[in-house]
Amino acid sequence: MKFSIKAGKLQPNTAAAALFVCTDACPCGQNGADEVVAALCAQTATDEQRFVGSQVWHNGSLQALAVLRLQHTDYAAVQKAVAEAAAWAAKQPQLAVDVSALDAAAAATVVEVLTIALAQAVYRFDGLKKEAKPAALAEAVFYSGEHALQAALNVAEATVYGMDICKNLGNAPGNVCTPKYLADTARREAEAVGGQAKIMDADAIQKLGMGSFWSVAKASSEGAYLIELRYNGAADADAAPVVLVGKGITFDTGGISLKPGEAMDEMKYDMCGAASVIGTFCAAAKLKLPINLVAVVPTCENMPAGNASKPGDVVTSMKGLTIEVLNTDAEGRLILCDALTYAEQFKPRAVIDVATLTGACIIALGHTASGVLGNNQALVDSLLASSRAVNDKAWQLPLFDEYKEQLKSNFADLQNIGGRPAGTITAAVFLSYFTEAYPWAHLDIAGTAWKSGKDKGATGRPVPLLLNYLRSQAQQG
Ligand SMILES: [Zn+2]
Repeated sequence: MKFSIKAGKLQPNTAAAALFVCTDACPCGQNGADEVVAALCAQTATDEQRFVGSQVWHNGSLQALAVLRLQHTDYAAVQKAVAEAAAWAAKQPQLAVDVSALDAAAAATVVEVLTIALAQAVYRFDGLKKEAKPAALAEAVFYSGEHALQAALNVAEATVYGMDICKNLGNAPGNVCTPKYLADTARREAEAVGGQAKIMDADAIQKLGMGSFWSVAKASSEGAYLIELRYNGAADADAAPVVLVGKGITFDTGGISLKPGEAMDEMKYDMCGAASVIGTFCAAAKLKLPINLVAVVPTCENMPAGNASKPGDVVTSMKGLTIEVLNTDAEGRLILCDALTYAEQFKPRAVIDVATLTGACIIALGHTASGVLGNNQALVDSLLASSRAVNDKAWQLPLFDEYKEQLKSNFADLQNIGGRPAGTITAAVFLSYFTEAYPWAHLDIAGTAWKSGKDKGATGRPVPLLLNYLRSQAQQG
């Protein structure tokens, strides 16, 4: 979809579909708008009704005309308010949006939020269907009045770019999105935006001593890859990078600790951490953020087979710590721990891993908020601030030392599960043994990466949160 900005005010009768955005402080009637627009605006004064869309006979032609009257102009409020307008707009082939009545800050927020909402509304994953049914909307033009809004549009388009990569990878079925496909796509997408890719195969993974990662990967015939993407945008090419690490289990059967059959198809989404990291990397490079960035993705399937890991097996991680694998379905932490050790070599200023890690996170936070944990409160606070800034909700859980008791093993340095209590926390505690060398935070997105049921599909989260965080880091220099 194409987006652009034009200076000046929208003349209502010049567009096939026109959306006017105003506020209670400045309703359309007050800013010299066309009387048809003012009349529509007058219908939007109640709390329940902030949007009115209509077909009007206007100066000799039939026109789709709508008014969205905002009560509040913060990001979350605008996001909620534009939902109905975006659904209406998706049915129009071409949309003109007037934000000239808003103040500069509100206009920028509306451009950013509405662009993302429109892109989400027209998003389809129908390449595997005989007949594709694309949405009608192909182009939106924002009329900015006096405001400079290009920067807001650039951020929104980069966010959409990253979210679409994330969603396309997430929605692709397990027989399409294999570890090889994930690696090839990561390379292609990274190179398309000026990044570099290094793909390491099963031999390289074993040579690196990633015995924990390999213990998960070895039972699959699809192979395993360690993906490393690099983007150097900082003025100083040697400046310490931010490292994003994403869990890339392209299908999770649970292994020998086999999962129940119900909704098992959704285990194709067990690579959404990887997808969000790759998407965010590409969005940041597309925005040319002045920051150095590395993405590390361990990817494989978790399958049962004659050579699969068995409950009770002890494996040796790249760091040298031994791990008793009590449940082969707690495999995400087994591949992540070696990727997190690998990340040390970059001498990172911060490492953030993103993973669909625990069902317990859905019990704790539902499908609304991602879980955040970490060993550095300043880093966690930055992520929470970004989460609020773009309403990509996240909530911190504690990493108290007491939880370490649950990971003690009689036969190894650690065991890979800590029982039912505090399952999201003990998963993060497990990872914390491998992240002592740098500031680290962990995002558990098991509840937020995809939706089930009628709206089944990847959400593109937490790309908005991560991109906002990287932008804030770039501003700090
Ligand atoms: Zn699992």
